[in-house]
Amino acid sequence: MIAPLPRPTALRVCALYPDLMNIYADRGNLLVLERRCAWRGIPFELSSSGLGEQLDADAHDLFYIGGGQDRDQELCAEDLIATKRDGLHAAAARGATILGVCGGYQLLGHSYTLGDEEIPGVGLLDVRTVREDGPRLIGNVAIEVSLDGDAERSRVLAGFENHGGRTRLGDGQAPLGRVLKGYGNDGRSGQEGAITANTIGTYLHGPLLPKNVWFADWLIARALGIGAGELAPLEDELERETHASARHAAGV
Ligand code: GLN
Repeated sequence: MIAPLPRPTALRVCALYPDLMNIYADRGNLLVLERRCAWRGIPFELSSSGLGEQLDADAHDLFYIGGGQDRDQELCAEDLIATKRDGLHAAAARGATILGVCGGYQLLGHSYTLGDEEIPGVGLLDVRTVREDGPRLIGNVAIEVSLDGDAERSRVLAGFENHGGRTRLGDGQAPLGRVLKGYGNDGRSGQEGAITANTIGTYLHGPLLPKNVWFADWLIARALGIGAGELAPLEDELERETHASARHAAGV
């Protein structure tokens, strides 16, 4: 008989600006984290930090910031610098997991430049984004990723992208993955997203996690400080079909 896996303590998630940085089903990503914890009997706590609110670096294991329109993003950027930058750096330094999607990804970098204006980011990822002339980068996308602590050597993340900004990585910055189909960071480099320790940015929108539950589990495990293999397996038939269909949509 296999001994039951030890039950991890609660996963404490903090959504940053859930009302402003929340387009393309970002709430669905949080719901996937909540459900996959609940199905395993892992207590789940969701809180939020909005405009003007300080951030307690020690009170959360996973921080989530979703996508946003340029206007809302600008509003959040100012606030992020004023009230949350130090807290986020402290959280990253103690190993908390931080996930930024699209506009949220851009804000985890150094800057987002729109014409003459440079919107500063928190600088957790060594990336810079510029809104150049040219079309928005829109469509289904699939990338190949290899993540620390994942039993598989490489896996596919499949999703949808829609961004005007083009993101360039600094010299030592690792991308999250290699573009198989779609545009990725800038439509040219073949790179998508960025990862430094447990801080991750990607252009793959919500529903990123519904389409890639293996990645949701990797995030949960990281945030709990356990190996992904220590999470109880779930019956993922529907989730596997969802992943296959997202890959199919991207042509991979
Ligand atoms: N405003 C950013 C851009 O267009 C991000 C968009 C988004 O989050 N979908 O590049």
